[in-house]
Amino acid sequence: NAVVHWFKTDLRMQDNRALHAAAEIAKQHQIPLLGVYIISPEDWAAHVTSPARVDFTLRSLRQLQGDLAQLDIPLYVETQERRKNIPNRILELCQQWGANHLRANIEYEVDELRREAKVVRLCAKNNIDFTPLHDTCVVTPGVLWTGSGKQYAVFTPWFKGWLAYLKENPDLLELSENPQPNPTRARKEFGKLFDCEIPAAPKNKTVTEEEAKRFSKLFPAGEHEGRKRLEKFLADKCPDYARDRSMLTGEPTSVLSPYFASGVLSARTAVAMAKKDNKNQLDRNSQGHMHWISEVAWRDFYRHVLVHWPFIGMNKCFKVEATNIEWEYDKEQFQTWCDGRTGYPIVDAAMRQLKHSAWLSNRARMIVASFLSKDMLIDWRRGERHFMEYLVDGDFSSNHGGWGFGASTGVDPQPYFRIFNPLLQSEKFDPEGEYIREWVPELRDVQGKAIHDPYHRGAGPTAQKNGYPKQIVDHSASRSRALARYKEALQK
Ligand code: FAD
Repeated sequence: NAVVHWFKTDLRMQDNRALHAAAEIAKQHQIPLLGVYIISPEDWAAHVTSPARVDFTLRSLRQLQGDLAQLDIPLYVETQERRKNIPNRILELCQQWGANHLRANIEYEVDELRREAKVVRLCAKNNIDFTPLHDTCVVTPGVLWTGSGKQYAVFTPWFKGWLAYLKENPDLLELSENPQPNPTRARKEFGKLFDCEIPAAPKNKTVTEEEAKRFSKLFPAGEHEGRKRLEKFLADKCPDYARDRSMLTGEPTSVLSPYFASGVLSARTAVAMAKKDNKNQLDRNSQGHMHWISEVAWRDFYRHVLVHWPFIGMNKCFKVEATNIEWEYDKEQFQTWCDGRTGYPIVDAAMRQLKHSAWLSNRARMIVASFLSKDMLIDWRRGERHFMEYLVDGDFSSNHGGWGFGASTGVDPQPYFRIFNPLLQSEKFDPEGEYIREWVPELRDVQGKAIHDPYHRGAGPTAQKNGYPKQIVDHSASRSRALARYKEALQK
């Protein structure tokens, strides 16, 4: 007999509800705890998971496997080419290992929920005790309702409810313990599982050797690193987060999104530790801590939206009227955006950082999302997909939510008439032009404010000499075009 924990996007031991539940069963029945992870290239293709995120996942799996092995818990990893075979394979493995108990945390995307439901049915038919648990959100989707019994579609009142719920249920922020070591016989009985190697990435999701080195340096894998970053951020940067979070240099934010996205760090741990640092308060004291907690809550909010309006996972806008917006489908312009050659230095800096680092700050994401959907009037879904192709933290609900916000097509979006002026954004959030100089080497020699708009502020000859492009669209003309098209569509 044994109990199996099926790892998915919860690649950690600390504060992992289903793993903890499995460990409790192991302790109670004195049976071994076994871990399993199924790699699905079809899932990665369907979700447009980036090579950077696949690389991070595989590195995190290696780390997790090592950590679990220290407790004599094996982590068995295998690849299943067809994702529809996964439920049967999970059942087969449980039967092969003689396991009567299975635990896993729920994933809320439509395909994943269907898969979970299938496993529930299969286990019920085969007398395996399987309970999927809610874990990834701090407050479980479906718990918060408006006063009139509706689902929240606006963040601010939802967040008020979210905070109130956490205050009423302080135990929600009590973190679960790590599993205990397996009984010694586990090594004897399941010795082969300990030899399991983590497979390599599928060919179409492989990073180059140079990228592998770069990403390992930028985002070292594993929960110990996640926890270290969290502690360092809370001590050093969080107090000034409300003031500095949008600045494009100096890394004022936590850069924890890859760790949350792969479940290497739990959002609950993050909120619990931020609360503790904030004199155990969820409403007073440091503005920085409360602001940061509210950002972590945005992640919960977008999952709540996915659970209640799953049609958004079918390539649709949350705001149905926005379906009528008449987009431009200019391939060449789209490519200039992807390559960071729009002639708007702040946009180009961000798009180049995305390709190089597989990550962007929220401000940079908002600037390029607004530019693509409003200045270029290109369908936001192309940008959403491009982000997924590159981001190490690519996550369906947050990415869809972020694009919906920036393009004014989503839930609780930026009003459509609020169109970022990329030149003003540049001056405000990169006042010295350091961010631009870092990512756009053609403009490194440009001094002063000219860096924000070289061709109109006296640095044209340098920009031209170094091959920096002229602006691909005129902001004020494209702003008027966007206003007209959005107005027409939203008023239909
Ligand atoms: P911090 O500022 O330190 O915030 C802490 C955590 O809170 C983040 O790690 C993240 O998990 C969560 N968070 C912060 N802001 C948001 C937000 N606006 N929406 C949802 N969660 C938030 N985030 C992703 O994790 N994956 C994505 O694919 C993604 N795509 C985005 C696309 C667009 C167009 C936009 C505008 C935003 C997107 N975001 C996405 C949200 C946000 O930009 C990132 O989570 C954040 O920049 C990550 O940096 P950080 O970890 O330093 O965040």
